[in-house]
Amino acid sequence: MSQSRTSSLQGARLRRERRTFEAMIACYCLDHHGRPETHLCSECQALLDYARLRLARCRFGTEKPTCVKCPVHCYQRDYRERVRDVMRYAGPRMLWRHPILAVLHLVDGLRPPSAKVVATAVKCGG
Ligand SMILES: [Zn+2]
Repeated sequence: MSQSRTSSLQGARLRRERRTFEAMIACYCLDHHGRPETHLCSECQALLDYARLRLARCRFGTEKPTCVKCPVHCYQRDYRERVRDVMRYAGPRMLWRHPILAVLHLVDGLRPPSAKVVATAVKCGG
């Protein structure tokens, strides 16, 4: 497989990760704040904007592991806790509402991390 083909596949994976997170936060907002999926409340919208920005600026780029496995904790503490709440709530529900996204995200989590990710994890002590 050529390099360019590999990176376009990786790009698709990142786009999917963004979609997965959007679906999770929509699910969370709908159930907690009663907002329809297309209109997040301002709090959830801010969290989504923040997560998108972090994803776009991730130092690993297309080598990024799923955020749960990433050795670099780039989220500010406050946002990190909110994201964890969203994932804890929406994660299991994703299997019902968006089974394909949920399964693909699980598969992404099973892939071994790239050498760059492993090297960083060692440097940061795990
Ligand atoms: Zn909300």
